[in-house]
Amino acid sequence: PLPTVAIVGRPNVGKSTLFNRLVGKRLALVDDRPGVTRDRREGEGQLLGLQFRVMDTAGFEDEDPQSLPGRMRVQTEAAVREADVALFLIDAREGLTPLDEEIARWLRSHDTPVIVAANKAEGRSGEAGRLEAFALGLGEPFALSAEHGEGLVDLFEAIRPHV
Ligand code: GDP
Ligand code: MG
Repeated sequence: PLPTVAIVGRPNVGKSTLFNRLVGKRLALVDDRPGVTRDRREGEGQLLGLQFRVMDTAGFEDEDPQSLPGRMRVQTEAAVREADVALFLIDAREGLTPLDEEIARWLRSHDTPVIVAANKAEGRSGEAGRLEAFALGLGEPFALSAEHGEGLVDLFEAIRPHV
């Protein structure tokens, strides 16, 4: 079985955009139980010759934003537990939000190693946001643009030790 990368983060940071870039058309597994596909998509990811299983999650996109347990959807929890590495995305343009900090705390309570990417950082626009993300206490964040395909070598270097 391939090593697994779980993409996590608050809504709208670019998780699905990155998933689609890594997986392309190699979408492997679609679970048709209601609610499941929405929370978790899996596929075979490829990046500069590296091959891994990748999971897109939406566990922080629950309809009840006040309830943290509500957002900890079962599938996201399972994805992080199963994964060899969690790829935590933040939005470099918006900078850190309270929900990012909450997710960081939640991730620290797991044994799964975490790497932090500051997405939407095309053309260096996200440098301030990337630096802010050091405060999450999860190591050195790297700049990424899932949409424009920038920072993929840094993504490769970050994932490689774990897969
Ligand atoms: P998710 O909710 O975390 O899965 O985020 P999505 O992948 O659905 O992306 C949310 C929005 O951010 C969409 O409008 C994307 O086009 C946009 N987006 C994703 N990645 C990037 C990026 O690297 N740069 C910019 N500027 N926008 C992005
Ligand atoms: Mg999504």
